[in-house]
Amino acid sequence: MHELSLAEALHKTVETWQQENGGKIVSVTVEIGRLGGVDPDSLKYAFSMVAPYPVKTVLLPLRFLCGGCGKEVETERLPEKCPYCGAVDQLRRLNGRELAIREIEVEDV
Ligand SMILES: [Zn+2]
Repeated sequence: MHELSLAEALHKTVETWQQENGGKIVSVTVEIGRLGGVDPDSLKYAFSMVAPYPVKTVLLPLRFLCGGCGKEVETERLPEKCPYCGAVDQLRRLNGRELAIREIEVEDV
């Protein structure tokens, strides 16, 4: 389960942040790309083993740039063609493998 090592790495980042900024961590939000092979539930479970705070996950939409019309397309799954101009095989993927901390919610102590 590679989510465990990912959770450990992200938790280290959170701990470092906390040492610099103080406060009690209430929750952490992690954003996940849809093509990175990270399962949100497995990641939450992994966090429950390494970190004392709950983790929320946000699945990011996929973004593509169309080579036909130059528009940016946001979608939840791989599109077959551009929804604006209908071009096939013109969509260049811009993201999909993110794994990053979006927000750390803290409470003053
Ligand atoms: Zn297009």
